[in-house]
Amino acid sequence: MVKYSKATQRELFEQSKQFLKGAKVLVADLEALRNVIVYHEWRYSVLNEPMISDFEYDQLYQMLKDLEAENPLLVTADSPTQRVSSDLGSDFPPVAHLTPMLSLDNSYNAEDLNDFDQRIKKLVMMDTDEAIEYCVEPKFDGGSIALVYEKDFLIRGATRGNGVKGEEMTRNAKAMRSIPMKANFSAYDIEKVELRGEALIRKDIFEKLNKDRMEAEQSVFANPRNAATGVLRVKDPKEVQTRGIEAFIYQLGYGVNAAGENRLGQFETHDEGIKFLEKLGFKVPVKERKLCKNIREVIDFCLYWQEQRENYPYEIDGMVVKVNRLDLQERCGYTSHHPRWAIAFKFKAKQATTKLINIEYQVGKIGSITPVAKLDPVQLAGVTVSSVSLHNEEFIRSKDIRIGDTVLVERAGDVIPYIVKTMEELRDGSEEVLVFPTHCPSCQTKLVKPEKEAAWRCTNPHCEAQVLQRMFHHVSKDAMNIDGFGQAYVERFFELGWVKNLADIYRLDYDKIANLEGFGAKSAANLKKAVDQAKQNPLHRFLYSLSIHHLGKKVSKLLAAEVSHVMELKDWSEEDFTIIKDVGPVVAENVMAFFADEKHLELLQEIESLGVNVKQTEADRPKTIAADAPLIGKTILFTGSLQQMSRKEAQTKAESAGAKNISAVSSNLNILVAGEKAGSKLKKAQALGTVQVLTEEEFLALIQ
Ligand SMILES: [Zn+2]
Repeated sequence: MVKYSKATQRELFEQSKQFLKGAKVLVADLEALRNVIVYHEWRYSVLNEPMISDFEYDQLYQMLKDLEAENPLLVTADSPTQRVSSDLGSDFPPVAHLTPMLSLDNSYNAEDLNDFDQRIKKLVMMDTDEAIEYCVEPKFDGGSIALVYEKDFLIRGATRGNGVKGEEMTRNAKAMRSIPMKANFSAYDIEKVELRGEALIRKDIFEKLNKDRMEAEQSVFANPRNAATGVLRVKDPKEVQTRGIEAFIYQLGYGVNAAGENRLGQFETHDEGIKFLEKLGFKVPVKERKLCKNIREVIDFCLYWQEQRENYPYEIDGMVVKVNRLDLQERCGYTSHHPRWAIAFKFKAKQATTKLINIEYQVGKIGSITPVAKLDPVQLAGVTVSSVSLHNEEFIRSKDIRIGDTVLVERAGDVIPYIVKTMEELRDGSEEVLVFPTHCPSCQTKLVKPEKEAAWRCTNPHCEAQVLQRMFHHVSKDAMNIDGFGQAYVERFFELGWVKNLADIYRLDYDKIANLEGFGAKSAANLKKAVDQAKQNPLHRFLYSLSIHHLGKKVSKLLAAEVSHVMELKDWSEEDFTIIKDVGPVVAENVMAFFADEKHLELLQEIESLGVNVKQTEADRPKTIAADAPLIGKTILFTGSLQQMSRKEAQTKAESAGAKNISAVSSNLNILVAGEKAGSKLKKAQALGTVQVLTEEEFLALIQ
């Protein structure tokens, strides 16, 4: 039971194609255009099965934005453009929930669940031989939210808070495309309704988010839950969209008609209520929700998910078991803390306790000081963990972590291990409260903490520890990509005094290297070849390799496209930077500061004189893709081994034909090019049935 019938879907799809053909949209089309966009948001965010590419979605969205800009009086409150409104007001005032959001009682094993079943039977005065039907769904590990709709419009979003009162965050709720701004409750004579759900971030999106933050030397999130709950309180709703936050709805909490009479009685079961929400277009658990005929089935389903949790795209820490019939739920009632008709089944935690022996400090490539806890080695989900990042001083203070403490460490899935909490009750008084260093552990410069940043920083750009980190970064794959020149070499040459700055990398004495232990003529020659090759890199790689704060790969490309020689940047004003789309004042400020430092300019001249390319190359110039390029708007993925070109070459070819390379097989994928020995990705694409599968030859023919 879904929101749109097949016929309606076909109609909306046809309409989107009409709009995308590029004929001028008229005011008369406004309503239709909105409906089309709402439909595609639902396909993408609720079903995870988009029918059009992101590019096409953006085109439709832009059409609507333009049309509304011309006719501002016709903008409706539920228009997709109103998801990210720029209304002022950035506070999160407390609001009372219409009914309290209680927590759940916990269970940990089959015995607990059997006890629960027995208790329910007693409460509803049922014969012990008779079976109770349960609805079981995942216990999402995100941030709980409550949504209020009145006269079909989303009027309020709030966090769970203490269960009675939460914080209002309507603007952020509206920014989540999986939450309809308008839903047809009135057809069921429901005037006002409160829904419960969970705001979540998908694990793969979380990993990417952290990687990007790490690259920008921003503090990373300890786990997906923190990333999702944190975003509920951000002041810019756009951030909610860029972080990819979604919301699953799992409970109808309250629903009345205009006269204030309870209207939830029209549903006989919890499952019916969820199907109703699904039909109205909400994202609800579907495949991961099960109606179980008896407690035996409940136990099997819970144990199955305990094994499967790592394969699920979202973090879940258990399952929730609910009595399905609403009349029975009513008979069970509530305690002051939790409903008697529901229980959480908690998965086995991947946690362990261990001793925190010491805290060490790492200096990053732009001087951020990261405290790292050294632990008594401990086994967690098959991996030995002996050190974990403590992120920054605030993290340590907020958790009151002390040296000598016993700490609880968790490792969930592929997420980096982190400290959950410190076991205060195990302290014997010998633990030391951290005294955060006031000076750089490497160069002794006094540390500063810029406003709005979480980390203390060493501001000496010539700090030895930073220079070393920058050399690591410079030679790395993403930057100058000097093949074979890893961290170990940098460290060794650094200790020998051969490399003191980036320029030294290009004046190594390969005869001396050949005589080093563990080297030889051959490996020295290989290294020379790799270094010489890197000298020809395009300018954008070189810019990125300089470790300028906030200057990531993307902006490096944007800048390289604008200058013919790196030195031109030293004459740029802030306006010159920010006039480029996607370049903000923070990057501008940092690049300007870099080029204002005389020592940096000398270094760049030195590097250029050593033969390293610092000029714009063909690869730096922006590629214009014709609107009729053969793969325009398509997503593509290469798998298996290709015979006529490397994977990288194939991806570049696809890009210049207008396609976007993606890394996983999903319903977002349009084309899979399968080389020899293509394995699981090919199978998965074939199973999906929506992916066009091509051979290497067919691909080449297509882009000709
Ligand atoms: Zn320093």
